[in-house]
Amino acid sequence: MNSYHIVIDEDMLQNILETNFQESLDLFSINMLLYVLLLGILPAYLVLKAPITYASFTTESWSKIKVIAIIAVILTSMFFGFSKAYTSFVREHKPIRYYINPLYYLFSTGKYLANLSKVNSQPLKIIGAQATIPSNANRKPKLIIFVLGETARADRFSLNGYQRNTNAYLSTEKVTSFTNMQSCGTSTASSVPCLFSILGREQYDKETALNTENVLDVLQHAGVKVLWRDNNSDSKGVALRVPYVDYKTDVTNTICNPECRDEGMLVGLQAHINANSNQDILIVLHQMGSHGPAYYKRYPNQFEIFTPVCKTNQLEACNTAEINNSYDNTIAYTDYFLSKVIKLLKANDSSFATGLFYMSDHGESLGEQGIYLHGLPYFMAPKAQTHVASLLWFGEQFKINHAALQQRANQQYSHDYVFHTLLGLMDVKTTVYQAELNLLHGLNATNSSND
Ligand SMILES: [Zn+2]
Repeated sequence: MNSYHIVIDEDMLQNILETNFQESLDLFSINMLLYVLLLGILPAYLVLKAPITYASFTTESWSKIKVIAIIAVILTSMFFGFSKAYTSFVREHKPIRYYINPLYYLFSTGKYLANLSKVNSQPLKIIGAQATIPSNANRKPKLIIFVLGETARADRFSLNGYQRNTNAYLSTEKVTSFTNMQSCGTSTASSVPCLFSILGREQYDKETALNTENVLDVLQHAGVKVLWRDNNSDSKGVALRVPYVDYKTDVTNTICNPECRDEGMLVGLQAHINANSNQDILIVLHQMGSHGPAYYKRYPNQFEIFTPVCKTNQLEACNTAEINNSYDNTIAYTDYFLSKVIKLLKANDSSFATGLFYMSDHGESLGEQGIYLHGLPYFMAPKAQTHVASLLWFGEQFKINHAALQQRANQQYSHDYVFHTLLGLMDVKTTVYQAELNLLHGLNATNSSND
């Protein structure tokens, strides 16, 4: 999912292996091909063909020993000269010891493969098997759409104070935008499984998460009709046990021009809702959103609002203003997409208590301190990569204390809240629910039974 990355760690290998062909195309260019040919393959060939004459074994050994001795002296004096800084820095940031090692990718590959076999050999841990939704004569069935956003930075939403009007549509709706939402990871491959898992960021590790049921499984145990529509790469293992439809192809997506648009996921959704009336429905829509570096491909022409834009995937060929313009246009398109989701929910307001829950997976660096894209190890990731856009909207039938919810908008929250908020939204009663990690704790009138 990422390029321009400095650390080939386990997550990055996962990103490489889970990136699909279309995503890879986004990163590909003629220039890149020339770089690889002229600066990689050609020098390697010349080195390979260079004639090497060896002196006798003793002469060679002696010259090597001299070089090693000189380097050792230089290294030792440098280390002791700055040891105070080094030791505290390395102690603070333990992973750096691996990252500075040029052979770290070999270690990462081994670790990745070892974990993969561990995942495949363990049985799935069932959670919340007894989950139920208490029946109540006054309760309307819930229709919740969870939009899983892609690469949307909180500070690029005008709802959160951005000076550009990137929320022309949502600003006319009664939404609560969370201004301090922190992501679990800095890449799709880590954030997506984490935010649906019960583990939370502190306890999260990929193997345990994949070997444990997630919130979609618990909702399904409780009888909620779950559907996942995906216009991104895939669900990263989250939707393995719920109905899943790929919208990244014009076989299913009717709005491809040529890129398949997020709004294509809404086509035919009314029929799915009609077919499941009188039931609780959760629909997950996984957006392509603001996926970089080819931001300019992420929106139809009419959303080229901020100009001039960067029309290449080679961000170094564009200036900061062009990159930011094209990125902001992707946010404007997401704003429009979310308003269409709300329109669909409003059309179902008479038969359901409706709600939209939007959450981006991670943020994006757009050239701040020379950093681009995302995927930096969490401890060193800038806020731009971990401060994500997130919002809630509710229909007329959803009993919620709007004023009290609005007061929570600026509080510090994180992806840890998604699991429990989704259970709370659906009034699910289960032993794995933690009220204090529900964004709506105490505000949702029909949820009093489990709050
Ligand atoms: Zn992502």
